[in-house]
Amino acid sequence: TRTPVTVTVTGAAGQIGYALLFRIASGQLLGADVPVRLRLLEIPQAVKAAEGTAMELDDGAFPLVSGIDILDDATRAFDGTNIALLVGARPRTKGMERGDLLEANGGIFKPQGEAINAGAADDVKVLVVGNPANTNALIAQQHAPDVPADRFTAMTRLDHNRALAQLSKKSGVPVADLRKVTIWGNHSATQYPDIFHAEVSGKNAAETVNDQDWLENDFIPTVAKRGAAIIEARGASSAASAASAAIDHVNLWVNGTAPDDWTSMAVVSDGSYDVPEGLISSFPVTTKNGKWEIVQGLEINDFSRTRINASVTELSEEREAVRKLGLI
Ligand code: NDP
Repeated sequence: TRTPVTVTVTGAAGQIGYALLFRIASGQLLGADVPVRLRLLEIPQAVKAAEGTAMELDDGAFPLVSGIDILDDATRAFDGTNIALLVGARPRTKGMERGDLLEANGGIFKPQGEAINAGAADDVKVLVVGNPANTNALIAQQHAPDVPADRFTAMTRLDHNRALAQLSKKSGVPVADLRKVTIWGNHSATQYPDIFHAEVSGKNAAETVNDQDWLENDFIPTVAKRGAAIIEARGASSAASAASAAIDHVNLWVNGTAPDDWTSMAVVSDGSYDVPEGLISSFPVTTKNGKWEIVQGLEINDFSRTRINASVTELSEEREAVRKLGLI
């Protein structure tokens, strides 16, 4: 039998955690033959609720689950962890300034970065879901100097999936026949979903759709503002789709992208596409043997360049703000 993989989920008692943990337990994160040991991290006030989720996980009688620990201490939660899913974050509340939001999240992601640095397994992979995800990932990464920087990533796969869904509706082609959509930049309203390199049944998506008005005034804003539209419709923020995207992100990172496709991941920039080095920004990436690589050599037209620059500028400003707050 295989040794279980240790998976730590923070904010385990939250909405996303509730949807995510059952997918992990059923084998959809790592594979139907990979046993998992779950570590649920919560703040002390939410430990009881996390215990409730763990009771339900017990009642799922999942053959792949070899143990569940519920913890309120980051050092213990990340000790020996292979996969860290950082979902818990401090949401923006009414009247909260951006500086307050970044500071509150610095108080969460700095100690979590330190705990990962101190005790995580050598092969640890980190996915940050909690917002502002890119900058929270940057804070954690900066406090884990002994962990290679490429192990810290933030989630834009939900935006990628939203882009696939919209492109499928517009083109009438099922998602299974779509390839190479890209999300660039920040997981925020400035993100840029790009279909100039995407394929619809093997043909260029932008040329096939051939509708600039739709692209600018429908597709891009619909993808970027989908979270708000779901809150409006559901009366609660999207949780199952966020969990599903987290599963996709890690599964592809571990098991590899298809030879004719790529995914979107916010990763540490090496300066590719003029994104300042060190920012955690979304790129088209391929993955193989547990490692990601930024897709190189794509031609970026003026329309795309303007939008990528706008989102990357926002990331630079967030980095400047957390520097000023002494969080990195
Ligand atoms: P959710 O589980 O719904 O969301 C958790 C985080 O994911 C939020 O920051 C949220 O950002 C973000 N997120 C990213 N993508 C999406 C998306 N598409 N839709 C919705 N959210 C998205 O929040 P809950 O309030 O239900 O649960 C959070 C839990 O985290 C609580 O139980 C709390 O106790 C816990 N927590 C744990 C910490 C820890 O383990 N140390 C620290 C802080 C909190 P946004 O707010 O922008 O939607």
